[in-house]
Amino acid sequence: MKCKICGKEATVYLNYPRMRLCKEHFIAYFERKIERTIKKYKMVSPEENILIAFSGGKDSAAVAHVFKKLGYSITGLHINLGIGEYSNKSEEYAKKQSKQIGLRLKVVDLRKILGKGVGEAKGSRPTCSVCGTTKRYILNRFAYEKGFDVVATGHNLDDETAFVFNNLLHWNTEYLAKQGPYLPGENKFVKKIKPLYETMEYEISEYVKNLGYTYITGKCPLSSGATILKYKKILDEMEQKGPGTKINFIKGFLKKKHLFEVEIQRSSPKECNICGMPSLGEKCAFCKIWHLEKPVKL
Ligand SMILES: [Zn+2]
Ligand SMILES: [Zn+2]
Repeated sequence: MKCKICGKEATVYLNYPRMRLCKEHFIAYFERKIERTIKKYKMVSPEENILIAFSGGKDSAAVAHVFKKLGYSITGLHINLGIGEYSNKSEEYAKKQSKQIGLRLKVVDLRKILGKGVGEAKGSRPTCSVCGTTKRYILNRFAYEKGFDVVATGHNLDDETAFVFNNLLHWNTEYLAKQGPYLPGENKFVKKIKPLYETMEYEISEYVKNLGYTYITGKCPLSSGATILKYKKILDEMEQKGPGTKINFIKGFLKKKHLFEVEIQRSSPKECNICGMPSLGEKCAFCKIWHLEKPVKL
């Protein structure tokens, strides 16, 4: 099988659009695609400082590599979640990748700031929800306090499709209204962007492997049985039977998203009386989950 562009031997097979490419032309294709996504959603301007959520996985490595190549000012933030060996390995990969990229890397360690790992929060919330809230809070507060203009995360098309599918099944219309590749900043909320929004997971692994990166693989040991993983599996089957299902689903969602926006509760913004960050009630979700009496130091 030959590369569609140069006729050399193809090493990467894409399903949608159906295409075979050699290593060199696949890398160029991938980077053009991400650059187009960044421009299409007007994610970031050249003078802005970007903080990348840098996990040690493939997605954040790809985001950082592309941003670096495009000449943006980037810093990585790794959050060590304190999930034993899995977290230690993730941090090792994050450090190794950041050296390869030439990325400034900061680390926040949950055990150091909270004395506990993410699986040890006391309460009724499922661990994945605790983890999501904790990561979002730390990323946002870190970016806000250190003066970053943008937070970039590695969420890819597979993640986003599963998220929208899940929230449609449960008619969580308010979540749907707040979901997308670009969320504008507002007072203490820093702007959030997802440069891999239109890119599939297998393309991302091909990209980072071809560039010689190693990364943490396998699911988080605390996420087994998570509903979102079941939806991912179903959606993978649908994509296999009908290539393009995911991207068309997500593009359709963005077109119809305005229909859900009436659901957003317009309550006047409050501030958490522990940490001062935006909050729905007296205490923000993060300070509540971790039963904090004073703000954590990041
Ligand atoms: Zn080629
Ligand atoms: Zn708080």
